[in-house]
Amino acid sequence: MTRAIYPGSFDPITMGHLDVIKRASEIVDELIVGVLNNNAKSPLFSVEERVKMIEDTVNFLPNVKVMAFEGLSVDFAESQDAKMLVRGLRAVTDFEYELQMSLTNRKINPNIDTIFFNTSLEYAYLSSSTVKEMAYFGADISECVPDFLVDTIYQKVKERR
Ligand code: ADP
Repeated sequence: MTRAIYPGSFDPITMGHLDVIKRASEIVDELIVGVLNNNAKSPLFSVEERVKMIEDTVNFLPNVKVMAFEGLSVDFAESQDAKMLVRGLRAVTDFEYELQMSLTNRKINPNIDTIFFNTSLEYAYLSSSTVKEMAYFGADISECVPDFLVDTIYQKVKERR
């Protein structure tokens, strides 16, 4: 049984993340979306809110689970008996950072490997920070995130102003 972890902040989940989740879930038996509980990054949404938003987004994918975690992704993977980490690549800038992270992770735990999904072209520009910035300035985010989350995101951004 192949189990993989897709770790990230998902603050909030975007169509780009969902695209990676769907594609990864097709090649593994079980995919766990690991939502990093990292207050140092001062996320817009709490970890509980992010978990719920992802759960509601992926409920049509029976082999995808969502869990919050703290600390290192490799330690979380080990605790879940997963041998693979999934990450996404958009631009060259992602590549440098992701390569360094995956090498570090393999140094810490050589039993766990990282597999990368390149972005789908239509989501190449998309990141959680872009979505937050667009929402902050009242731009249309309906193509960037699942429909049912659009209002929640505008609302949250407004509260933070
Ligand atoms: P982190 O804070 O750990 O970088 P993110 O939530 O920003 O977490 O992203 C999680 C993973 O998803 C990262 O590997 C990132 O490169 C990837 N990712 C984010 N947006 C996209 C996208 N539009 N297409 C493909 N991969 C993406």
